[in-house]
Amino acid sequence: MSNKTKSPMMKFTIKNFQETFPNDDVCLEYIRYKKYPERIDCPNCNVNSLFHHVSGRKSYACDHCGFQISPTANMVFHKSPTPLTTWFYVIYLMAQTRGGISAKQIQRETGVTYKTAWRMCKEVRDILAEDFNPFSGEVEMDESYFGGDEKNKHASKRTKGNQGRSTKTKTAVFGTVERGGNLEVRTVPNVQAKTILPIVAENIEKGAQVFTDEFNVYDALPAMGYEHGVVPHAEKIYVLGDAHTNTIEGFWSQAKNGIRGVYHAVSATYLQHYLDEYAFRYNHRDDVTPMFLTFLSRTISSSQPR
Ligand SMILES: [Zn+2]
Repeated sequence: MSNKTKSPMMKFTIKNFQETFPNDDVCLEYIRYKKYPERIDCPNCNVNSLFHHVSGRKSYACDHCGFQISPTANMVFHKSPTPLTTWFYVIYLMAQTRGGISAKQIQRETGVTYKTAWRMCKEVRDILAEDFNPFSGEVEMDESYFGGDEKNKHASKRTKGNQGRSTKTKTAVFGTVERGGNLEVRTVPNVQAKTILPIVAENIEKGAQVFTDEFNVYDALPAMGYEHGVVPHAEKIYVLGDAHTNTIEGFWSQAKNGIRGVYHAVSATYLQHYLDEYAFRYNHRDDVTPMFLTFLSRTISSSQPR
């Protein structure tokens, strides 16, 4: 082990991982422990009972009547033929790298097929979406464009009718961040007032101090009840006292570098999932809990029907 620069987030080393989750039974027990107290009221016999693991299955049976419950019900793990240890390891890999990890790399590390690796990443990313509204205090907002230049793509990969022109295949993204707080990003069909302003009204508390660049859509902010600080980018003055959008711009460059370096190109359809992954990392940057355990409990707690 080398003494590389310590990551700001608490470390959950690969050794920790292997010791904590050595096999599927332990992973399943961890999920059960996160979902249920030791004794639960059996839905079948109504006895407040202990449940024991049914060997070879993702389920536990009531000590009293044998009725079985499955702690993974409705979770991404449930119907998947991929072992729980592999799922946990993929979540570990995704959480431990600041810039993200590609499906190709996951395929190499775990031995699952590329298709499976890709799907697993997508499922995890899907779960990382969070809702923090409303933002208050000092808030920065900005719009940006994600996506590759058409002219750099192979002819067969170019969007039809768009040969050589770049902006049409870029996806507009709108971001809001509370300074010292959380961040939200979403893909938008365009950056017109009719698209942007309802998001602002929904996301930000009236009276907040909102910092933006001088894009004219934001001219409506004072009339909407916000204190508006404008950063005159056109004049190359990027920091004018408090009037800057450095926080959101820092996020744009981090997400863009990550997507370029790790994922190469992300189609517009999946961009939101990738953005959610980066936003999740940003929003949990100061957590004391290792990022892996945060990713994991998020995956376990969000057991929406699927
Ligand atoms: Zn029972």
